[in-house]
Amino acid sequence: MDRLLRNLSIWLVIGLGIVILINMFSGSKEDVNRITYNAFLADVNSGVVKHVKIDGHEIEGIDSTGKKFCTTLPPQLAITTAMLDAGIQMDVVEQKDPPWYINALISWVPIILLIGVWIFFMKQSQGGGGSGGKGMMAFGKSKARLIEDEEAKVSFKDVAGIEEAKEELSEIVDFLKDPELFTKLGAYIPKGVLLSGEPGTGKTLLAKAIAGEAQVPFFSISGSDFVEMYVGVGASRVRDLFKQAQKKAPCIVFIDEIDAVGRQRSAGQGGGNDEREQTLNQLLVEMDGFDANVGIIIVAATNRPDILDPALKRPGRFDRQVVVPMPDVGGREMILRVHGKKPPLDDDVDWKTIAKGTPGFSGADLGNLVNEAALLAARTKADKVNMDLLDKAKDKVMMGAERTSMIITEREKEVTAYHEAGHALVAELLPGADPVHKVTIIPRGRALGLTMQLPVEEKHSQAKSYYKNNLCILLGGRVAEEIIFGETTTGSGNDIDRCTEIARKMVCEWGMSDDVGPLTFGTTPDPSTGQPRAYSETTAVEIDKAVKEMVLAANETVNALLQENSHILKAMAEALLEKETINVEDIQTIMKA
Ligand code: ADP
Ligand code: ZN
Repeated sequence: MDRLLRNLSIWLVIGLGIVILINMFSGSKEDVNRITYNAFLADVNSGVVKHVKIDGHEIEGIDSTGKKFCTTLPPQLAITTAMLDAGIQMDVVEQKDPPWYINALISWVPIILLIGVWIFFMKQSQGGGGSGGKGMMAFGKSKARLIEDEEAKVSFKDVAGIEEAKEELSEIVDFLKDPELFTKLGAYIPKGVLLSGEPGTGKTLLAKAIAGEAQVPFFSISGSDFVEMYVGVGASRVRDLFKQAQKKAPCIVFIDEIDAVGRQRSAGQGGGNDEREQTLNQLLVEMDGFDANVGIIIVAATNRPDILDPALKRPGRFDRQVVVPMPDVGGREMILRVHGKKPPLDDDVDWKTIAKGTPGFSGADLGNLVNEAALLAARTKADKVNMDLLDKAKDKVMMGAERTSMIITEREKEVTAYHEAGHALVAELLPGADPVHKVTIIPRGRALGLTMQLPVEEKHSQAKSYYKNNLCILLGGRVAEEIIFGETTTGSGNDIDRCTEIARKMVCEWGMSDDVGPLTFGTTPDPSTGQPRAYSETTAVEIDKAVKEMVLAANETVNALLQENSHILKAMAEALLEKETINVEDIQTIMKA
C-alpha cells in the first residue's frame, strides 16, 4: 500500500514540474513590443501601421518599418472614446484564459484522486494486498496457480489406500492422454469430476496425480479465492481462469473447497449473497460453454457435497462424483508404506500394527505421523526411524504434543490420576467396551491426562450397548473424583460435553430411546438455512427428558461399579502417580491383583 501512495505522489510531483516548465517557456514568448492603445490609434491615423491580426481583443501588427508590435483593445469603447478625446494614455491588459494544461489539470485532478482512493480501498479489501501487489490489473485475474512438469510429479503410486477412487479416475487419465481416441468413438467424457471426502483424505493429491499421470498442466485454485467483497470480481476471475485453461488444454483445473462458491443458491430469499451467486452462475456458464473435447477437466473437491447447488451436478457439469473415503486398516497400512519410503527405517517397524492403532486417521494424519517420527529421530540424533519413535509420533498426532513444561500441583496430579483411573477402570470392567491401550497423566494439548482405548476391530455401525458403555466410560473420571475427593473439578467439562452429545444423538438420530421411539429429529435447528426444528414443543421436552435419563442411568451404573472396585481404582491411580503412563500390561497386572 505504501508503494502505491509513493507512486502516486511521485507522479503528482512530475506532473507539477512539467506544468511549471511549460509556464516558464511560454512566458518568454513576449518579445514583441507592447504599445498602448492610444499609440496604436495614433499609428493607425498617421498611416504607420501596415498590417494587423485581431484575435478577440488582442491585436498584433507590423508597422511600416517592419517592427512587430502588439496591444489590447479596451473592452468598453464608449469610455474609450472619451478617454481618447481627453488624451489619456490607456495601457490595456486583458485577463487571459488559463492555458489548456492548467484547464486539464483542474478537471483531471479530482478524477485521478478518486481513482487513487478507489484503488486504495480495493487493495485494502484484498487482505492488505499481501499476495504480491500486481497493481490494479490483477483484480479480475484468477489467482489460479499453474503447476507444470517438475512440481506435478505426483503419480497414482503416491496415492494409496483409495483404490476405487483411483480406478474411477484412471479413465480420465486415459482421455487426457489421447482425447482423439475417445472423441473418434463419440464417447462421452465428463467435463467435471467432484471429489467428496473428509479433509486430508487425499483429494488434492488425487487431482495432482491425474495431471501427473496424464502429463498435463495442473491449475489449482480454491473456491474461496473467487469470493471477494466486490460484486463482479469473482465472476471475472472465473472467466479468466477458463481463458487461461483454454490456452493450456489439455489440462486439469482443480477447484478446492468448491462449496465456498457452490453453496446452494438462496431460493428467492432476496438479499442472498449476490456476489457468490454471480460467481457460481459464471462458473456454470463457463462449464456449459467450453467444448468437452478440448480436454479441460475440472476437478472440484468438497467435504460438504450435501450443501452444493444441485445445478452443479447436472449433466455437462460435475456429473461424475467420486467419494474419497477415510482409509480403513488396509488402506492406512498402504498409505504408511508410501510415506515410510522417505526416512531410513529400523527393522522393527511394523506398519500393520501402526495401521491397527490409528483408526480415524486420514491420509494427511498418517503422512504427518511418519514425518513427526522422522523429526523426533532427528531431534534425538537417532539414525533410523523405529517403532518407538513412530509410537510417540502417533500419540503426538492423536492428542497434541506432550506439555512437559506445564506446572501441575501435586493435588492436581492426584486428582488427574484418579480421574483417568476412573475412565480406564470403567472401560475395563464393562463387557464389550474397547480395551484400554494406554493411560497417562502427562498433559497433552489442553488435557491434563488421557485414557486411550483401541478397538479390537474396525466397525462401521455400533450397537446401543456400545454407546451406553461410552457414556459410562466418559462419566468414569468424574465419578471417581467424587468418590475419592467428595467433589468434582472442572477437568470433567469436556467429558460431560461429549457425554451429552452422544446421549442426544442416541435419542435424536439413532432412535435408541424407548420412550421417544425410533424416530429421527434433526439434532439442532440449522441456523445457516434458517430451518426451524421439525417437531413440537412437547416432543422437545420428551427428548430432553430422555437424554437426561440416559445420562443419569449411566451415572448410576458407574457409581456402583467404582464403589465396588474402589481398591482397584486406588491401585491404578497410585500406579499412575508413580509412572505417569501405564500400558496394557500394567493394567492387566493391576486388574488381577
Ligand atoms: P484433501 O485435499 O483431501 O484435504 P490432501 O490431498 O491435501 O487432502 O492431503 C494432504 C496430504 O496428506 C497429502 O499431500 C499427502 O501427503 C497425504 N495424503 C492424504 N491422502 C493420502 C493418500 N491416500 N495416500 C498418500 N498420502 C496421502
Ligand atoms: Zn476425563
